[in-house]
Amino acid sequence: MVMDWLFPSQCVCCQNFTSNRAKICEFCLADFPFFIFDQHNLLLRPDVARLVNLPHCEGLVACGWYQGALKVWLSEYKFHQRSHHKAVLQQLITYQMQRFWLTGNFLPDVCFIMPLSNRRYFWRGFNQVTQTWMPALQGISPISSALTRIKSTKPQSILNRKQRRSNIKGAFSVKLDLQGKKVVIVDDVITTGSTMDEAAQACLEAGAAKVWAFATALTPLLGK
Ligand SMILES: [Zn+2]
Repeated sequence: MVMDWLFPSQCVCCQNFTSNRAKICEFCLADFPFFIFDQHNLLLRPDVARLVNLPHCEGLVACGWYQGALKVWLSEYKFHQRSHHKAVLQQLITYQMQRFWLTGNFLPDVCFIMPLSNRRYFWRGFNQVTQTWMPALQGISPISSALTRIKSTKPQSILNRKQRRSNIKGAFSVKLDLQGKKVVIVDDVITTGSTMDEAAQACLEAGAAKVWAFATALTPLLGK
């Protein structure tokens, strides 16, 4: 590729040149602290199950903990629109999801992207979840916009676990018949699981047979 020759990509971790315009080289990717799938479902890991409360979800998949490099890339992309971090995140998510799809454990019929939380964030002008997850979901299942917010809520980050539950109660509506469908809801960071679980409940009420949660990162205990 002429473009590769003119503008070779460098690995964001080790600065070595990469092939195929990758943002992370294969060596750093192999060393990245991805979650390892115990039976391909993070809810089966006791440490994760203690942290997140997702009674309406059957499964959970994520790339890693919301700390270190993953936290830096996610927050800089989200809050400062550092778009070169978008390509890094896309590469990490695609890599992790390719390993998950290979298990054949769960293949969704429909996929929802978690809608943005409230008007405060509208200035951002993009949904960072859609932007970073699209390549990993392409060709897997149709992505629907039928999951919407119907209630204005406070930012979950300023609330404790109990307040988060009541803040988010009744916040979602699903304008799609999900009878018997296997559903995925995708979000960037899961902390207590309140938002994800409320959205999952709305999907079950719309007839979904099962719901899985996909996230870029999970907040470790330290950050709670
Ligand atoms: Zn590297």
